[in-house]
Amino acid sequence: MYKVFISELQIKERIAQLGEEISEKYKGEEIVMVVLLRGSFMFAADLARAIDGNVIVDFMVVSSYQGMETSGEVRIFKDLAENIHDRNVLIVEDIVDTGLTLTKILEVLKSRNPKSLETCSLLSKPSRRIKQVDIKYVGFSIEDKFVIGYGLDLDQKYRHLPYIAEMTG
Ligand code: 5GP
Repeated sequence: MYKVFISELQIKERIAQLGEEISEKYKGEEIVMVVLLRGSFMFAADLARAIDGNVIVDFMVVSSYQGMETSGEVRIFKDLAENIHDRNVLIVEDIVDTGLTLTKILEVLKSRNPKSLETCSLLSKPSRRIKQVDIKYVGFSIEDKFVIGYGLDLDQKYRHLPYIAEMTG
């Protein structure tokens, strides 16, 4: 059904590196982590703990794109509780695939005039990109395959797995 693709240890080690990089970059300045639910919940929990700094955590629930539609608006089901005006915002995403979702979220958040706006994604599938989007921090670049676990679902299942797995059919 599925097999381990990125192990718990690999994830842990990579997140420690990302945490160091991010801590270094913001140098103690406040970071508002914008966690995109539901897929990013596990990554965000581990990433937050790997950052040595002043971290505020907030959540957004947005709809993913439908099929290959390139013009669809992202629907916000739950917006941020924080006002991000003039604050450092770090979007935390599980996976960037076509880039459509992230592009739209960046547009929405940019219009609120944050001090800075960066993105961190655990996974990226560059070969699938429709919209070129700048991801400042990437955990792992992977080839075009459907992955589950560590927050990522298939029909809402498998999010609880402590590793990233690939479906084997
Ligand atoms: P994008 O707008 O970049 O195409 O889509 C990003 C969203 O699609 C992700 O947040 C995730 O919900 C979903 N997605 C893309 N690739 C995968 C995958 O391999 N596995 C899972 N579980 N979801 C994916």
